[in-house]
Amino acid sequence: MRLASVRGMRDILPAETGLWQGVEGAIRELFGRYAYREIRPPVVELAELFARGVGAETDIVHKEMYVFPDRKGQMLALRPEATASVVRAYVEHAMHAGSDLVKLYYLGPMFRYEKPQMGRQRQFHQYGVEAIGSLDPALDAEVADLAAQLVADLGLDRARLRFRVNTIGCAADREGYRGVLLSHLGPRAVGLCSDCRRRLEQNPLRVLDCKVPSCREIVCEAPSSADHVCSACAEHFEGFKGHMEALGLSYEQDATLVRGLDYYTRTVFELASEELGAQDALLGGGRYDDLVALLGGPETPAVGFAGGMERLVMLLHREDREEPELDWYVIPVTDDPEVVRWTSQILAAMRRAGLAADRAYVRKALRKSLQVAARKAKGAVFVGPEEIASGAAKARDLAAGVERVVSLAALVDPDAVRGQLAAEEAS
Ligand code: AMP
Repeated sequence: MRLASVRGMRDILPAETGLWQGVEGAIRELFGRYAYREIRPPVVELAELFARGVGAETDIVHKEMYVFPDRKGQMLALRPEATASVVRAYVEHAMHAGSDLVKLYYLGPMFRYEKPQMGRQRQFHQYGVEAIGSLDPALDAEVADLAAQLVADLGLDRARLRFRVNTIGCAADREGYRGVLLSHLGPRAVGLCSDCRRRLEQNPLRVLDCKVPSCREIVCEAPSSADHVCSACAEHFEGFKGHMEALGLSYEQDATLVRGLDYYTRTVFELASEELGAQDALLGGGRYDDLVALLGGPETPAVGFAGGMERLVMLLHREDREEPELDWYVIPVTDDPEVVRWTSQILAAMRRAGLAADRAYVRKALRKSLQVAARKAKGAVFVGPEEIASGAAKARDLAAGVERVVSLAALVDPDAVRGQLAAEEAS
């Protein structure tokens, strides 16, 4: 059997990692600007955390989670999302004691046993924020604004992105809405898919985000959760929408938006892009005012979002420019041990001076070595017995195509060398 990566889990190859690093850098810089600090929870957690936090009846936990016993029989899970982990860490480390509002962000791989397709993998990467400690609807809008700013910072076309927002109310509202929804969906159950008929009994809200077309038709007509929330939740929703408008964030209200995780309360939102096809959600989030207490902490309201890196990278679909990343590529011109030793020493001196440098380890014709160098570096350096005898080396500016003998000391300052080469070419 030929060994290959596991279905739905792919390699991110060097041609793409430049773009990934750029996006990760933009995320870290922006989240820092909004006063979020990074947290790195483990990839493996107790399975119980997600059953309790995300909901045992959600698709994510019920159907998609990778669960396995460790050697002592303890049931563990590869995390399918990070909010439950972050809140577990918040409670475990009593973070509420240090500050009234704790703002955290994360980046990392998540795992869900879903059917792989465009924009949906079994190992994917999420970036996300969690603001824990305030019920202020301005914070919900700040979180949405952060999402919009990320899109703007990355140079994506805002006009092709839409915020969908909804409110699903507090736990008591949801209990009431569940009954309203059941009386609407119950008589129409025959038209629902088999999964939704099961959901109807366990958690009818989950029917609202089913993607099966026949279910969608039935769901379109269903009563809206926003019409069945208490006055405090309705006021919160109005407040959130007001702050969105104040920040210039346009949105549409979507009565069927409920999100696939049970911990949400009140505000839910998604940022969707027409360019992503069927899996059009770039990111999604909302409030989870009961989760901290559910995981053993004090009653603490919170709001956050998570987005998929793969979908963001897909939207950016910029080809990696394959720009030479190294300052120097050093080429020993013979196998002479003295030459090889000098090559290693020059290379080490360059790296210690803070330059990015590499060397040819495979001996090739000079022309071939130069082609390799041109793909990797801005300049090439040749080391041979003559150069060693004179304490110098031949340096070539690969873009300008000019070369000259320079002192070994000068090689650790390639800008100066290249400046000289350029000046010579011009004269
Ligand atoms: P969720 O945690 O389900 O609210 O998803 C938040 C975001 O993560 C989505 O909007 C997607 O961008 C991304 N996402 C979720 N599941 C996957 C997946 N299987 N593959 C790729 N991205 C995903």
